[in-house]
Amino acid sequence: MIRHKHINKFAKAYLLLMEKISEIFSSKKQTCSFELFPPKTDKGFANLLATIEQLAALKPDFISCTYGAGGGNRGKTLDVVEHIQKTHGIIGLAHLTCVLHTKDEIKNILDDIKSRDIKNILALRGDPPLDNPDWQPGEENFKYSSELCAFARERFDDYFSVGVAGFPEGHVLCPDKDMDARYLKQKIDHGADFVITQLFFDNKEYFDYVGRLSNLGVTARVIPGILPVTNYQSLVKFCGLCGTTITNEIKEIFEPIQEDKQATLEAGIQFAIRQCRQLLDGGAPGLHFYCLNKASPTDKILAEVRNTK
Ligand SMILES: Cc1cc2nc3c(=O)[nH]c(=O)nc-3n(C[C@H](O)[C@H](O)[C@H](O)COP(=O)(O)OP(=O)(O)OC[C@H]3O[C@@H](n4cnc5c(N)ncnc54)[C@H](O)[C@@H]3O)c2cc1C
Repeated sequence: MIRHKHINKFAKAYLLLMEKISEIFSSKKQTCSFELFPPKTDKGFANLLATIEQLAALKPDFISCTYGAGGGNRGKTLDVVEHIQKTHGIIGLAHLTCVLHTKDEIKNILDDIKSRDIKNILALRGDPPLDNPDWQPGEENFKYSSELCAFARERFDDYFSVGVAGFPEGHVLCPDKDMDARYLKQKIDHGADFVITQLFFDNKEYFDYVGRLSNLGVTARVIPGILPVTNYQSLVKFCGLCGTTITNEIKEIFEPIQEDKQATLEAGIQFAIRQCRQLLDGGAPGLHFYCLNKASPTDKILAEVRNTK
């Protein structure tokens, strides 16, 4: 449990005013946000607190923390989000997944989230864990994240700003992009306020997705998720699981230098800067960085992108 002995006065005052993410949108055309995950060890936790301090200095609009992703530490998500809000006065976004939880448990978790002054959730279905891959939802569970969106609205009215995941290339289990876009619309119709996308490397995929959603009448913000490439081999593995295409451009840049850590890092920064600039120039409503619990290289990318705005 993280203790908040030294909540500074500014953070305390800010907490009282802590906004919902949907409220930021009325005053900001583009937002900047970061995503972290709860580490499993005490050492990892100490490192994460230092990373949050560095990321806070970059003045993001909000910071999110995943829930159970990759078998991660479910119990710690809310501690991390509470720490972000109470120690740094930055809006926190708590991810929440339905898998392995009953509806009653979800209700209790949402109560807990509310009691900690957290006003923003990312409503997700999640995936069955590796040690229980055949888990199937029953009557007592939510099957899709749209059901979680509806539940949060029914039980908590407008207390939460609710975000959902979007998949520019279609979700890996739903190869029909139009159908996947219709499922996304369902999440919005059931109460979601905004979308954060899966990582992608071809900006055309993002703009086409926004176009498909717009044709369906979706006006909610679709914030692109950005993963700076730092390790090509891990990237190939991860994209295989989540369905993101490794484009020819990515292959051409990173394959030849995959054994050279420093060259990969530098090329990753340059690619992300180009990708982010093109997204913002094309009207994307902000950037959400998958930071992998490190401030760098996101700090370097952001400095360049902000410099040219
Ligand atoms: C920004 C972001 C953050 C994430 N954070 C986490 C995290 O913190 N923890 C974690 O474990 N995972 C996380 N994930 C991964 C996510 O949980 C998985 O991608 C999961 O497989 C899908 O979750 P979802 O909320 O999109 O599911 P859903 O929206 O429920 O969709 C799941 C599948 O069902 C289909 N579908 C949806 N509605 C219907 C319907 N009515 N009828 C039939 N089919 C339907 C969809 O097309 C899709 O194939 C994140 C993903 C993103 C993009």
